[in-house]
Amino acid sequence: PLPIVAIIGRPNVGKSTLFNRLVGKRLALVDDQPGVTRDRREGDANLLGLEFRVMDTAGYEEDEAATLPGRMRAQTEAAVRDADVSLFMIDARAGITPLDAEIARWLRSTDRPVVLMANKCEGKAGEAGIYEAMALGLGDPIPFSAEHGEGVVDLFEALLPHV
Ligand code: GDP
Ligand code: MG
Repeated sequence: PLPIVAIIGRPNVGKSTLFNRLVGKRLALVDDQPGVTRDRREGDANLLGLEFRVMDTAGYEEDEAATLPGRMRAQTEAAVRDADVSLFMIDARAGITPLDAEIARWLRSTDRPVVLMANKCEGKAGEAGIYEAMALGLGDPIPFSAEHGEGVVDLFEALLPHV
């Protein structure tokens, strides 16, 4: 079986954009199961020849206005638990939000492998966010642009030990 990579993070950071880029036309399914797996999308990814199964999480979007703990967190936690490595994405243009910090805190409390990605870094717009992200305690972020496909080689190198 292919190794599993989860994409996690708060809404609007660019998780699904990365998912679509990784999966391309090989998109496999949209999961309609009830409970915490609802809207979890999976597909077979190929990154510069590296093959893995990638999971896009959407739970945070669904409950944004409602309770933050509970179900939204459950979906992310389940994905991280199932994955060989998780890509924790932040929006470098927006900077670190309280929700980013909360997710980071939880991730640090697990012993699951995490790769920190600072998305929306095309141009110079993300520079401040990259420095802020260093304070999350999850290592140096990979400057990335899911929309423009920048940072792909660095992502490849970060994933290599885990997949
Ligand atoms: P998700 O909620 O984390 O799945 O985020 P989406 O993938 O739906 O993206 C949220 C918004 O960010 C959309 O408007 C995207 O077009 C935009 N976005 C995603 N990646 C990038 C990027 O690399 N740079 C910029 N500038 N915008 C991006
Ligand atoms: Mg999404």
